[in-house]
Amino acid sequence: MLAIHSNLKNKVAVVTGGGGVLCGAMAKELARQGMKVAVLNRTYEKAEKVVDDIKEQGGEALAIGCDVLDRDAVFAAEKKVFQQYGACDVLINGAGGNHPDGTTASEKFKKEEMSDPSIRTFFDMTTEGFSSVFNLNFIGSLIPTQIFSTRMMERKTTVLNISSMSAPSPMTKVPAYSAAKAAINNFTQWLAVHMAEANVRVNAIAPGFFLTDQNRPLLTNEDGSPTPRMQKIIDHTPMRRLGSPEDLLGTLLWLVDEEASGFVTGTCIPVDGGFMAYSGV
Ligand code: NAD
Repeated sequence: MLAIHSNLKNKVAVVTGGGGVLCGAMAKELARQGMKVAVLNRTYEKAEKVVDDIKEQGGEALAIGCDVLDRDAVFAAEKKVFQQYGACDVLINGAGGNHPDGTTASEKFKKEEMSDPSIRTFFDMTTEGFSSVFNLNFIGSLIPTQIFSTRMMERKTTVLNISSMSAPSPMTKVPAYSAAKAAINNFTQWLAVHMAEANVRVNAIAPGFFLTDQNRPLLTNEDGSPTPRMQKIIDHTPMRRLGSPEDLLGTLLWLVDEEASGFVTGTCIPVDGGFMAYSGV
């Protein structure tokens, strides 16, 4: 169990995508640290489940159904959080994921697939399909940041974005997701500079590979066995395992704790078992 960071107690955290696997674990850890945690998720029931778990452990949390791409919904969520808990101290932009509309069926171009209408090639991707994935993973962090950070300035607060290994070097099949996560890294640096004198630190965590709802279809077969893609990931991860949500929590606490990381802004920290460091040779 991680040490308690007493200066986080009673501060307000907002976690988008907090009903999901990784950010649900983050929300629970922040609540364990004594923070008041607003869990925002498009599917309300998923947020509610995390909040119930937090309350069962004696923590303080609030579930809000909120699509991060819907400005009005995010404004309403911010108002609700402010009324119930006060202004946000820590914003975690965790909502994200993939969708077949933003992916290609094959890792590499195969000419014969072009005549098969059942296979989605790069050329079959629609603007709408690509945009829906890009927007969820990039605009879905931009909108909550704009709206929540209006009340975060001048108080030593933190925005934490969630990047991916697909940002520095894009993964095959997921061009829209990769482009969006690369944009997240760039935006993290941009916003860190823009907000530095307003006392808002902006950083990112880049998780390696964790088995969650968004990538389960890519990494496991229907019977739960690993796909060849999963095997490739393990082979390319020097620590030879997938991450577990708990692996992210120490870095999370470091980055949101002003006493621990008060001079750290504009960074993206990999938590990846060495994946990014390994050339594959
Ligand atoms: P997850 O699918 O378990 O969680 C994502 C959550 O976001 C879900 O609860 C989903 O309902 C919610 N969500 C989706 N669209 C939303 C929207 N428009 N508005 C509000 N909520 C929405 O996936 P996860 O793996 O826990 O992903 C969390 C973050 O970590 C994502 O940004 C993801 O890209 C990133 N990430 C995951 C991995 C991994 O290996 N799982 C690796 C790198 C980065």
